[in-house]
Amino acid sequence: MFSFLRRKNTTTDGLEAYEEIAEKKTTSAGYLLLIVMGIFIIVVGQTIFSDLRHIPTLPINPAYCTNNFIEDYKSLRNTDQCSFGSIDREFGIEEQVNQILPSLQTIAKLNSEINDLNYRNSRLTHQIEQAQTQYDVSLQEKMAKEEVLYNRSGIQQSITSLRNSVEANTSTIAGLQTQLQSEISKVEPFIIPLKTAYEQAQNSYASKYAWYRIKVFCLMLLFVLPIFIFATRWYLSLKKRNSPYTIIATSVMGSFAILFLQVVLVFLYDIIPHTWIEKIFKIFQSTPILRYILYYGTVFLVVALFGGIVYLIQRRIFDSKKTAIRRLKDSKCPTCSFTINQFEDYCPKCGTTLKETCPHCNNKRIALLPFCPVCGKTKSQNTPPAPTV
Ligand SMILES: [Zn+2]
Ligand SMILES: [Zn+2]
Repeated sequence: MFSFLRRKNTTTDGLEAYEEIAEKKTTSAGYLLLIVMGIFIIVVGQTIFSDLRHIPTLPINPAYCTNNFIEDYKSLRNTDQCSFGSIDREFGIEEQVNQILPSLQTIAKLNSEINDLNYRNSRLTHQIEQAQTQYDVSLQEKMAKEEVLYNRSGIQQSITSLRNSVEANTSTIAGLQTQLQSEISKVEPFIIPLKTAYEQAQNSYASKYAWYRIKVFCLMLLFVLPIFIFATRWYLSLKKRNSPYTIIATSVMGSFAILFLQVVLVFLYDIIPHTWIEKIFKIFQSTPILRYILYYGTVFLVVALFGGIVYLIQRRIFDSKKTAIRRLKDSKCPTCSFTINQFEDYCPKCGTTLKETCPHCNNKRIALLPFCPVCGKTKSQNTPPAPTV
């Protein structure tokens, strides 16, 4: 991951970037295998995460049907069987609900009966309207002395019977409404204590759930952080030695960096109040200028964060002496990368001293390299000034 980024971050000098990559590169098959390995680590990490989520006991929320009873007890249509848990028993919710459950069931029954009758009445009213139209048509036929198609007395009879049904239904509804009101008034005094208990249970659940999240976060961190630290140290030590195996460590470290980031971000998202984030996000989303500020701000932040990390690594790793020697090996000036030849004592471009006199044998020797090519001795004098990278 980082060597990929590095390529982009050190292109102040194209040659240097090329040289640095050249020593670490692998074949396409190698890259592919490393990518597959990284993906595998991340996928296995997800499996382990979901396993870790099961280790602390997940608190069970209070039964939601209680909330329905509290909010809609007047207009209940059905009382589906509640499945109460330990938290409902702890706060006496189950007991309280069971006390009013017969009344609630009656309310639900009455409500559905009333609803049924209302529906039937609306259909009957529609039928009456149709019959009325037929009757009007038959009257017009009579006035026009046309052949009578409709049986007028039959229509009148059916209209009367339909109206009677509507009236009967309406009076039944009124009776049911009275029963309903009396049931509602029976339930009413129980609602406020039930609401209080339910709110207490919800608060208790919220704090239990917060603890659960913290426990899961700690477990995940325990799994991911040591390996991440280990992989990073491994990566740094390989990179310091300029090892060709650095890329393997890079892949491992990158994968664990992603897992680590996931754990931290999910936890942060959990503990920061969502409503605030969502509100702020909505404000940003609704105003185009703010939206672009948000987008650019995010990009800038990510670049600053990752660039900063890479910069710190680069600064630790980029040994100016090693770079200089690598350049010499390719017949380039250690300071400016200009192509040099073995007969030059100074770089023709920047004037850096390339050769100096050996203090032991008085022959010319390459200033930066540790051994004299003629007498094989190391020089005991000062090392030449380190080239700037
Ligand atoms: Zn030079
Ligand atoms: Zn010598």
